[in-house]
Amino acid sequence: MKCLIDGCDSVAKARGMCTTCYQTAVAIIRRGESAWEQLEELGLANKPQHRSPGNGAFAKALREKLIVVSIPCSDFAAMNKKEEVDNGE
Ligand SMILES: [Zn+2]
Repeated sequence: MKCLIDGCDSVAKARGMCTTCYQTAVAIIRRGESAWEQLEELGLANKPQHRSPGNGAFAKALREKLIVVSIPCSDFAAMNKKEEVDNGE
């Protein structure tokens, strides 16, 4: 697949753009001069391709970390505190 930018014949690598065009777009967005949504509307960038993380070792390790992080410790602390007050009477 060729880079979607007119006048550029390099091979597309990300969002339909070649590495050079993509890096230029990233630099422009970082400067706040544009946004991916705007470039997509203008036809200068494709939407990112969401690939499934799959079941590789990294994806599995990340899922395990996310499960650990998602336990709301503060909720348990608040519940225990309320119980102490009730029992004090
Ligand atoms: Zn290009």
